[in-house]
Amino acid sequence: MHHFEYKKGVLHAEDVSIPEIAAEVGTPFYCYSSATLRRHYQVFANAFKKSQTLVCFSVKSNSNLSVIRTLAREGAGADIVSAGELHRALKAGIPPEKIVFSGVGKTRDELAFALKTGILQFNVESRSELEALNQVALEQNRKAPISFRVNPDVDASTHEKISTGKKENKFGILWEEARAAYDRAAALPGIEIVGIDVHIGSQITNLDPFSRAFQKVIDLVKDLRAQGHAITNVDLGGGLGINYKAGNEPPPHPEEYARMIETLMDGLQVRLLFEPGRMIVGNAGILVSRVIYRKSGADKTFVIADAAMNDLVRPTLYDAHHDIIAVKDPGASQAIERVDVVGPVCESGDAFAKDRDLPPLEEGDLMAILSAGAYGAVQSNTYNSRLLVPEVLVDGREFAVIRQRPSYEDLLALDKVAPWLK
Ligand SMILES: *Cc1c(COP(=O)(O)O)cnc(C)c1O
Repeated sequence: MHHFEYKKGVLHAEDVSIPEIAAEVGTPFYCYSSATLRRHYQVFANAFKKSQTLVCFSVKSNSNLSVIRTLAREGAGADIVSAGELHRALKAGIPPEKIVFSGVGKTRDELAFALKTGILQFNVESRSELEALNQVALEQNRKAPISFRVNPDVDASTHEKISTGKKENKFGILWEEARAAYDRAAALPGIEIVGIDVHIGSQITNLDPFSRAFQKVIDLVKDLRAQGHAITNVDLGGGLGINYKAGNEPPPHPEEYARMIETLMDGLQVRLLFEPGRMIVGNAGILVSRVIYRKSGADKTFVIADAAMNDLVRPTLYDAHHDIIAVKDPGASQAIERVDVVGPVCESGDAFAKDRDLPPLEEGDLMAILSAGAYGAVQSNTYNSRLLVPEVLVDGREFAVIRQRPSYEDLLALDKVAPWLK
């Protein structure tokens, strides 16, 4: 469900026409819909109305300040994985007591900054991190609230690059070592145990891996409580998938996910935490691009777009499918041609679609690459010295540039000529 629709023959984001934005900011650009962001957040949060729940938006999926602030106003907390994301979450107005800190390699500086800020909890991923956090806490005369991220050794049945809950993945504490880790934490004066955490992967489209992992966590919570540990917060991570292809069977609705969890958790007396990213923002964003050229290969037609893999890397990195539509409604026309939609970057992997049947896209036409709100702009870079693309937020009839396109001066600003080359 999203708010990108044809109205009077042209694609709109809510009540704003895409060509109107393109005329003002140029292409390519990301465009997000506030109504979609709010709706997805509310659908997720309301699914858990009966439980005591905190929904911490996974900032790594889309870290634009205005996106985070839109969600903060709805009551969202934040799941962060770096000091930079903590700065963003705070500036966006997320209160520290709604922030959880995940990640396998938090540095001492990052731990110290987050502890001073007073975040809700650290999701600790190793014994070494535990010892480092204890020392940092003692230096500050504080106690650091922790959950261990445990690795349940469950196959999430998703792309290998976004699977995180198998024992060969770098994430979390080995299942067999979890009890000993809690005992060690309980003995450290700078540490306060508050809960447990699990996150098995991303773009998960079937409830089975979740329920297998969560059942293991519940059993562990009972064991840990029997050992005398105070487990109040149960953080079940993110990972719920979205639909990237029109016509595909939709992934489980948050209501189904919630009913499964409430059934499993029945009587456990915990505060539930979640870290959804993609489910909130994935379908709330599109990447708008213009066709620069068309060209015929030996037995292919290439549509060469002004956006490229440096702007949206998902197809290249994860073999991900993104639906592509023309901004001008093809309407009832049945015309279809089979094309590769590629970018200008000098890499054969720079393609948004291969052998895709699309309505004809002519030179100068605008297209929209759909479902680009999550892991899109955040993974963009300046490869080939291409400028980062702007981000635009729409709210009803209004739109605003929420990250501006840099200048070529900005692009070069951090490079320095070595003194011996002057
Ligand atoms: C990436 C990540 C998430 C968000 O995953 P989605 O699939 O976007 O919901 C949540 N928690 C952790 C620890 C992550 O690394």
